[in-house]
Amino acid sequence: MIRGPSARAFLPNRAFCSQFYTSDNYNPKFKDDIRKKNQIRSDREYTFCIIGSGPAGFYTAKSLLKSENGSIKVDILDSSPHPYGLVRNGVAPDHQSMKKIQYDYDEVFKNKNCQFYGNVTVGEDIQILDLLRNYSGVILAYGAGAERDIGIEGEHHLTSATDIINWYNGKLDYFQEFQDSINFDMKDLRDISVIGNGNVATDLARIFLKTKEELKDSDMPSPVMDILKEPEINSVSLVARRGIYQSAFTTKEVRELSKLPQIKMYLFKEELEKSRNEASLLEATPGSSIYARAINRRTTFLEKTCIHLENNDHYEEVLNDSSHKKLFLRYFMSPSKVLDQNSIEFNITELEGEAEKQRCVVKSPEERVTLKSDLWLKSVGYKTIPMPGVPYDADTFTVPNEMGCVLSDNGEIIKGLYVCGWAKRGPVGIIDATLRDSFETYRVIKNHIDQDLLDSRIDSTKKTLYNLEKSFVTYRDWAKVMYYEDERGKKIGKPREKYLWTEDYENIIGKAL
Ligand SMILES: Cc1cc2nc3c(=O)[nH]c(=O)nc-3n(C[C@H](O)[C@H](O)[C@H](O)COP(=O)(O)OP(=O)(O)OC[C@H]3O[C@@H](n4cnc5c(N)ncnc54)[C@H](O)[C@@H]3O)c2cc1C
Repeated sequence: MIRGPSARAFLPNRAFCSQFYTSDNYNPKFKDDIRKKNQIRSDREYTFCIIGSGPAGFYTAKSLLKSENGSIKVDILDSSPHPYGLVRNGVAPDHQSMKKIQYDYDEVFKNKNCQFYGNVTVGEDIQILDLLRNYSGVILAYGAGAERDIGIEGEHHLTSATDIINWYNGKLDYFQEFQDSINFDMKDLRDISVIGNGNVATDLARIFLKTKEELKDSDMPSPVMDILKEPEINSVSLVARRGIYQSAFTTKEVRELSKLPQIKMYLFKEELEKSRNEASLLEATPGSSIYARAINRRTTFLEKTCIHLENNDHYEEVLNDSSHKKLFLRYFMSPSKVLDQNSIEFNITELEGEAEKQRCVVKSPEERVTLKSDLWLKSVGYKTIPMPGVPYDADTFTVPNEMGCVLSDNGEIIKGLYVCGWAKRGPVGIIDATLRDSFETYRVIKNHIDQDLLDSRIDSTKKTLYNLEKSFVTYRDWAKVMYYEDERGKKIGKPREKYLWTEDYENIIGKAL
């Protein structure tokens, strides 16, 4: 690894970075000043390599390409033959207003100083050291591509939420793999339960509970829609370890669910009351922290909107009522053992500690409940996959860094190696948070250029990518695939009808991948 110990001295400090986020600076009066302040000005030419074409990669590329005299070139590599990362494969197919963001990203690709190289996996097809040698800087924007484990007996019986999400988003070459891997019959499903209650879990609930008609404007592939909407899914339960105040979903997500006319939402009265301990009430008191107002708004919304179930008999009665669809929000349950595909044993949990530092504990391990469901999904978060030659923090599952500068195993800054997005800060936060975080990394790169710490490079692409022993997908290639997907979609009234097989891409772009 090429190291630059002196680089640390030139790192802008946090206060320096945060000045660009103050509300004053967002005043249009200052806009031009800020644009100029943030623009790279250099007579030297630099070429950067960005690994990953999701939001983090794009926002960093966009900032770099705004350099004053076009002295910066950017190559964006992605293991997938298409760009956009989770915008294409993660964001739910019915959230088209969010998916539209890909058209902004296309503007970056169209910049003559930006090149896309899809179908190139760093760590396999090309090594990080080669990139570091040939480029002025390498930016790791490869996200968090693996699902976390819960670490309980029988976990292999659970179906991964990521598998379902990849499938309903039409991830390339995934359709058959998924159909072959599942050991349940989709058409037999009536009630589904999810371990976890983040926004991904609410996405799953919404996709399962919406009718085919409600999904008609989505870009869910037609073969998936035919299978997914065959069963009459009657209820979805989201099961969480902590209380209602600590729910991980945002108000926006549950509000969207509550607006669907066929759905009623339910809470257990007992779990709601248990949630109202002193520390949690303080966490929701406006002014007590930056999160308090949001916690208060979400909890008040849930208390008012959900029907409160008195007891288990009441629950059974509602569950068997087929007049409407249900979303059950369950709290204070920690999975201890997966008994079989349909049954999980849970420990009852308690919250302990002061506000904002509350821990979830199991005080009576012998107190257990078994919950049953036609299908159990695991949605407990993601982790970054280690890349050969890149430092990795196995505790946080991220690339160790200081404001986006990658740190070696002994804590030194590695010259020219940067990280942004989920690989940098972990798999939390929406695209807006990824934008801000990528900007922080960009600011550090700019600072390093200003201080003349990076090497000028002009023929990086030729030296590295043209020697690859496989075909890559350029943006021109991808634009052809996108054109045909859009045309197929128009014919059936959808935003696009995705191709599901690499073979389709190959036929369109005329090369073997
Ligand atoms: C299911 C789900 C739904 C979501 N829905 C929303 C939503 O509705 N709204 C919202 O604002 N946010 C949403 N998010 C969050 C949002 O997707 C993330 O904030 C954002 O995608 C993180 O961006 P990223 O660029 O760090 O990672 P990613 O988007 O994951 O991009 C990483 C890219 O790196 C590539 N890559 C990985 N390894 C390699 C390698 N070795 N070589 C080359 N390329 C590689 C991948 O193919 C991928 O294209 C959702 C997240 C998930 C998981």
